[in-house]
Amino acid sequence: MDRTTRNGHTGLTRRSFLLKAGCGLTGSALLSGFGLSSASRMLAQATRPTIDLLPTPDFSRGQVLRYVAGIRPYREKSIRLELERIDGRVLVHNYGHGGGGITMAPGCAEEVVMMLVAAGIEPTDVAVLGGGINGMTCAHDLLQRGHRVTVYSDKLTPHTTSDIAGGQFGPSFIRFGESDEDMARAEGMMIASYRRYLRLLGDEWGVYERDNYGVGAPRGSLSRLPYGLLPPVKRFDRLPFQGDPRPGYAYRTLLITPPIYLPRLLKEIRSLGGRTVRRKFSSMRSVMKLREKVIVNCLGLGAGKVMDDPTVIPFRGQLVHLKPQDLPYLLVSHGYIFPRPDAVVLGGTMERGVTRTRPDKATCEKILKRSRSFFLPSETGQDSE
Ligand SMILES: Cc1cc2nc3c(=O)[nH]c(=O)nc-3n(C[C@H](O)[C@H](O)[C@H](O)COP(=O)(O)OP(=O)(O)OC[C@H]3O[C@@H](n4cnc5c(N)ncnc54)[C@H](O)[C@@H]3O)c2cc1C
Repeated sequence: MDRTTRNGHTGLTRRSFLLKAGCGLTGSALLSGFGLSSASRMLAQATRPTIDLLPTPDFSRGQVLRYVAGIRPYREKSIRLELERIDGRVLVHNYGHGGGGITMAPGCAEEVVMMLVAAGIEPTDVAVLGGGINGMTCAHDLLQRGHRVTVYSDKLTPHTTSDIAGGQFGPSFIRFGESDEDMARAEGMMIASYRRYLRLLGDEWGVYERDNYGVGAPRGSLSRLPYGLLPPVKRFDRLPFQGDPRPGYAYRTLLITPPIYLPRLLKEIRSLGGRTVRRKFSSMRSVMKLREKVIVNCLGLGAGKVMDDPTVIPFRGQLVHLKPQDLPYLLVSHGYIFPRPDAVVLGGTMERGVTRTRPDKATCEKILKRSRSFFLPSETGQDSE
């Protein structure tokens, strides 16, 4: 089991420093920066708290494993999660998850199953299109409901976009629609996903609890999670990291490790009797040639072309993978840092309309520099999520 899950932060390789030591400034330089009188400076020095700093990643060249690029399957206005009937077949769409597909997959799969139940579909032969996290999670849940499932896909793990995801639990860069009903549905799916992942905590599935730190006031995908789903947010006058003293916050969330989770899910599908077939679909016509009368469409970015849906838009993200390091936190500032068992993932870029999966060296070097600058004040970097 993961050490952080078992121990929280105690017992790990954390280091205690006086505040002045941690930020690399002398006491007087630090305090004069805050404009204190000499009397209050003395008082402050006497009562200065000790803080525990979390370990700083090793960003040195020798730690770089690889540069990676993946394409988020974003859909304008909303993910598509609906059932339609075409020529005597039932077609359920489940695509357009942008930067939140790992987060949403279990909740979306439960919706797909419920849509089939509501449509009166008894256990039958089902074709699932796409072998990313959404296709595989749907396949798994349908098998559990007694359906006979074949996953048709041109690629499987480890070659899908889902394999590239950072794996933080958070509905980032994904749309659910505008109405209160849409949001209530999305929140229901997030709750279902969170509960599912909590049941899978540990090394077998690569799902872990982690504190996610950010600078300033809470923002980003945290504000889109249902209120009360996660434990209360903790506030810090000074975040426990080397570097400039910055106020911030942390919340306990989940980290799903795609290179562990996805092969484990595929193994589960096969053990439940699910089949996988390599196939590439060029159009709706090629989909309609399948023998199955019930089809679940989880083609991700591919759905744009196959379903002729112009609202599916690629957003490229680039990542730097460092060798695994014992860092018991997530950090979203200056891009993001997600330490996982297989790699420390540095990321946070967004390029609309770019579909090249070959990473760009200059951008990846910038990601590395930006991440390092959070800890090393002499280097510059920008906040972003
Ligand atoms: C850099 C990056 C970081 C990310 N970080 C996170 C994160 O931290 N948390 C999070 O929740 N999400 C994250 N995401 C988003 C997440 O990866 C996606 O939302 C998710 O993977 C989408 O899953 P999917 O199954 O719908 O699509 P995919 O994983 O793309 O799977 C689609 C499947 O369909 C197949 N396919 C496509 N077209 C065809 C065709 N024509 N014929 C046959 N098969 C086809 C593909 O081979 C593939 O098997 C990130 C994404 C990127 C790029």
